[in-house]
Amino acid sequence: MIKTRFAPSPTGFLHVGGLRTALFAYLFAKKMGGKFLLRIEDTDRERFVEGGMENILNSLHWAGIKPDEGVDFDASKNIVQTGEVGPYIQSERLEIYKKYIDELTQKDHAYYCFCSKERLSEVRKVQEINKQPTGYDGQCRNLSIEDAKERIKAGESCVVRMKMPKEGATKFTDLVRGEVEFKNELIDDQVILKTDGFPTYHLAVVVDDHLMGITHVIRGEEWISSTPKHIKLYEMFGWEVPQFAHLSLLVNEKKQKLSKRHGDVSVEDFKEKGYLPEALVNFISFLGWNPGDERDIFSLEDLEKEFDMAQVGKAAAVFDRIKLDWYGQQYIMNMDLTDLATKCESFYHNAGIKTEDWNLESVVQLEQGRANTLVEIVENTGFIFAEKLEYESELLVWKKSTKEDAKEKLQLVSEFLNTLEGEWSKEILEEKVLPWIKDQGFGNGDVLWPVRVALSGLKNSPGPFEIAGVLGKEKTLERIKVAVGLV
Ligand code: GLU
Repeated sequence: MIKTRFAPSPTGFLHVGGLRTALFAYLFAKKMGGKFLLRIEDTDRERFVEGGMENILNSLHWAGIKPDEGVDFDASKNIVQTGEVGPYIQSERLEIYKKYIDELTQKDHAYYCFCSKERLSEVRKVQEINKQPTGYDGQCRNLSIEDAKERIKAGESCVVRMKMPKEGATKFTDLVRGEVEFKNELIDDQVILKTDGFPTYHLAVVVDDHLMGITHVIRGEEWISSTPKHIKLYEMFGWEVPQFAHLSLLVNEKKQKLSKRHGDVSVEDFKEKGYLPEALVNFISFLGWNPGDERDIFSLEDLEKEFDMAQVGKAAAVFDRIKLDWYGQQYIMNMDLTDLATKCESFYHNAGIKTEDWNLESVVQLEQGRANTLVEIVENTGFIFAEKLEYESELLVWKKSTKEDAKEKLQLVSEFLNTLEGEWSKEILEEKVLPWIKDQGFGNGDVLWPVRVALSGLKNSPGPFEIAGVLGKEKTLERIKVAVGLV
């Protein structure tokens, strides 16, 4: 049985790069009829952030990625762990790691190291001056286990390091990158147990991936140089080595690493901006993968069927915000209007707009087809709800025309609109007003521009008939009257 995992550290919010890793691991498992597991890697206590685990789960749930095993929310959003081989939160597995670290020290695959921080930084300094590769110099590598135990008993503090072989090379076939080889002599004797009693990521990840039955380790490229250490640990334990797939880095349009300094990077940011989760997931799925043909709209369900690791490229994937906006717009455009209006409610609420007295669907429809995000819908339709529009009276004047002219047209059109009885909609208004303008011998712009500004107060907005349809007769006439008073 194929099993993949996503193993984030709860260090804040979920980065979009993390969502890409989670998505690809999830899709690979689904495509192969396997399972997707979620494990929390919280052994680095210095980077631990309170609430970080909830943030990650919230973001994954929002994106629709649900683990089959491991850490998850229950229906009331409590954190739960399901599966046979838990716990799935590393800080709850310290006893397990201890056992395996003891096994390594006993088999002479690992050793206790008593070097102080000061000594290590001194060693590093000398290496840098001599332009040598930096790393641990092996001072404690040959201490006997008995001596080490004596020193521990005497209260000396220590770490445990793995004994990396000094010759040969470690090779593996990466599912994305092909053959990869690292010279062993360049690999440090990695610390596997820290002075605080917590294992390091390197030991914990190997023990857990093995005990949890992970067959395919799918993770970011930044971990590729750690992989030979992990492979050696598998070999030291005598365990089968899983397959590895290292996903390329995400970069921005300027080919820089995607970081907070250059704008939004957390899933939470995109959620708050009002991107639909389906749009973000579809966009993210194309960061390194493509179906090999022209299609670009894929639901999560489609992706579960079509995703193919063989189509994942190794070039850095560009996080192109223009493309993301395009996806945003496509998904809003194709969404059921009732659902869209419901989704927008909380965004209106956050913007302090009361929507109760309005037919929200008709308001939202003004921007469906135009907006990329729900926040844009709210921002671009805010004028509808305004008690009083704020704009300069000059804005009412169409091109080379004059204030007097704008006033006259507004007055005349308002008289005409007042005579209309029965249904009041964009279509009817268009049908009635356009011939009227023609009959009067006016230009369309001379009438429609001031009307549009009178109704919206904006330089750019949806068309006057659309807005009037949403506002209704009374509010439309009221706004025109205010405009007449302004010019
Ligand atoms: N805890 C690591 C991280 O935060 C996981 C790396 C891996 O998948 O092995 O990215």
